Amino acid sequence: MRECASTMLNGRELVTFRKQLLGWFRQFQRDLPWRRTKDPYRIWLSEIMLQQTRVAAAIPYYERFVECFPDVHTLAAAPQEEVLRLWSGLGYYSRARNLQKAAQQIVAKHAGQFPKRMEDVLALPGIGTYTAAAILSIAFGEKLAVLDGNVARVLARLGAIRGNLRQPQHWQSLQKTADSLLEPKSPSDWNQAMMELGATLCAPKSPQCLLCPVAQFCEGRKLGIANSLPEKRRKRATVEVTLAAAVFIDEKGQTLLLPPPKNMKEKAAADHVPTLVSKMWHFPTLAVTGEPAGNLAAFLHKIMSSVASWKSQLVPAGRVRHAVTYRAITLLPFLIRAKKIPRVPGARQVPLTDVSRLPISNLTRKVAHAALEALTLAPAKR
Ligand code: SF4
Repeated sequence: MRECASTMLNGRELVTFRKQLLGWFRQFQRDLPWRRTKDPYRIWLSEIMLQQTRVAAAIPYYERFVECFPDVHTLAAAPQEEVLRLWSGLGYYSRARNLQKAAQQIVAKHAGQFPKRMEDVLALPGIGTYTAAAILSIAFGEKLAVLDGNVARVLARLGAIRGNLRQPQHWQSLQKTADSLLEPKSPSDWNQAMMELGATLCAPKSPQCLLCPVAQFCEGRKLGIANSLPEKRRKRATVEVTLAAAVFIDEKGQTLLLPPPKNMKEKAAADHVPTLVSKMWHFPTLAVTGEPAGNLAAFLHKIMSSVASWKSQLVPAGRVRHAVTYRAITLLPFLIRAKKIPRVPGARQVPLTDVSRLPISNLTRKVAHAALEALTLAPAKR
């Protein structure tokens, strides 16, 4: 077992290692839209979108986003609702909110120019060490090695490094290794090559060592343990959550959405509805432990006390599964056909068929789909 992948490479080996990896990247790299530019704004956007999101899923969002907000100024000046609408479906909406806050800071403090100093970049909301190193190296050629989960996996396999890579000591040692491997003449291509190797051939499952340009240097492959590295971290236990949601529908097909919740808690309970709806427009929704219809009726009575009882009007509209980090959620949408949708302060009425076009979480989108499906199967009696 090794502590550091770079210790196995002497001067000549390091030259060969760099040459082979860069040569492979330059020949086989995927053609991705953010690779056709050196614009730091676009590189930054792609890096934020790629956090928690696969490349294929991010591409259409990236293209729509840069079409609507082609630069930092347009993003900074846009209504937040429009930014969230374009992000809608990608999840982890704090990324979009931070992106816009950071754009506003870049306009206010840096005259709209993406900063070039590490400390200025790190001061922007939503940007950590990895993202800062990626933007500065790719856009400006700064000699900064990136280290994210993909690169860490490659390094762990190259050096046959065991243990929890996310432990601070381990991570620092991996960063030193990444720094020592960095090709100083081409930091942009180098970092992208390391990431590309981790995203393609050296993927989490079944690394394709036969095609790997640096296989001859890989201790994990030589020892036959590459597939089991990095060692698995213990996952947080899954928590089951059940939510009941009320989908009003009037004769014109209008429904009721509650406004984005305010005053979010930093550390929320597993069934904290404002967290689960990603601080966005949502149907009246409640975490339930007992009888869902009864719980939901009592909740509706609380927020719209003008009507005595809702329970008899709640019609189950299926059961939908949804997952948010460690939570396994069962969604229970209930339809309520109403002549007139009750008024709730701050709420809005929109056609149910248009809900998916609004800035909403995937959870709310699934509730809307289930309700529309139930309506198709059981249209209103005339
Ligand atoms: S040889 Fe295999 S395990 Fe080693 S870096 Fe290449 S793809 Fe990854």
